[in-house]
Amino acid sequence: MKKIYLDHAATTPTDPRVVEAMLPHFTDAFGNPSSIHSLGVETRAAVADARERVASLIGAAGDEIIFTSGGTEADNLAIKGVALANAHKGKHIVTTRIEHHAVEESCRYLESQGFKVTYVGVDKDGLVDPKDVEKAVTPETILISVMHANNEVGTIQPIAEIGKMARARGIYFHTDAVQTVGHIPAIVGELGVDLLAISAHKLYGPKGVGVLYVRKGTRIVSFMHGGGQERGLRASTENVPGIVGLGKAAEIAQTEMDAESKRLIRLRDKLIKGLLERIPQTRLNGHPTQRLPNNVNVSIASVEGEPLAVSLDLEGIAVSTGSACSSEAMEPSHVLMAMGLPAELARGSVRFSLGRDNMDADIDRVLEAFPRIVSRLRAVSPLWTGKT
Ligand code: PLP
Repeated sequence: MKKIYLDHAATTPTDPRVVEAMLPHFTDAFGNPSSIHSLGVETRAAVADARERVASLIGAAGDEIIFTSGGTEADNLAIKGVALANAHKGKHIVTTRIEHHAVEESCRYLESQGFKVTYVGVDKDGLVDPKDVEKAVTPETILISVMHANNEVGTIQPIAEIGKMARARGIYFHTDAVQTVGHIPAIVGELGVDLLAISAHKLYGPKGVGVLYVRKGTRIVSFMHGGGQERGLRASTENVPGIVGLGKAAEIAQTEMDAESKRLIRLRDKLIKGLLERIPQTRLNGHPTQRLPNNVNVSIASVEGEPLAVSLDLEGIAVSTGSACSSEAMEPSHVLMAMGLPAELARGSVRFSLGRDNMDADIDRVLEAFPRIVSRLRAVSPLWTGKT
């Protein structure tokens, strides 16, 4: 039975063209980019080339690209780096209640260090209202961080509008664009951001490499001390194979993104329609139109997400649930709770995230398997009142 992978928001397979570009940098072209000999010159050029490719994808200049170990480090660097560098101007940060833990936990850490953070809420579709962000701003605000699109429900935020407001007030603006770069247009000038985080493994690149875009003139300090790599903002010998892989992934995304997103939107909408038609008391989570081309998140009344995901896995279909499983308890997703979902529906959420390898036949198989699994689980659920 063919495995159907529908968890591309968690990670994507590395594109074979990316692997091919990376391979020489493990064996032949392995020099340290800081070395003066020709092996160093060779890898320095490869890193510079990758930098330009990533810059081109987001409309930035090469020297505004800082390579990191991933999206998490990029978010940490943006938030802690700007906070520390600008604490003399104020100690207040505005963010939202639906950020990825990389942003949320960085903010919580800063709170423990004397900063104040306002967590702006969202509406029932997971949308942030720019006016709420504006209202949260105080004379002490030095940074605003709002994600470009949410990783769980796929809602795309009005970043450009928030960016205009932040720019007018002279406040730095960061966006976590880990789920959008390479999937939908994310051009820094149009978004009006000063900082933007990218992760390679979400766009068919390798794991363990990412980027923080830092607009020229942004006051930021490093929290990684050592050599002077990455304009002094990220010490450590560059992950050359990873960086080259990200560069190739960016180049591929730039040429294929338009056609691929159209293809995915059709598959996404087919899946949404099919699920809502076939399964009673099912709710689509996230904005109906302002959403990522590959995201389908549904809540199924009276059934928990985990048995749904496990049952799908037994049928060769990989998905995620909206619940973070800890050893103690099943915590409902903070994103779904912020959207006002009752805890029961938040626990019954399943995320399907589509990608390059998915075809119509995969959607057809989900539409056959999933309603059948839901019926079976509901038949034994004490919560389900719709038994016939
Ligand atoms: N931000 C968002 C929105 C994400 O979805 C993820 C990954 O799940 C990250 C940040 C972290 O990226 P990485 O896995 O590269 O650290």
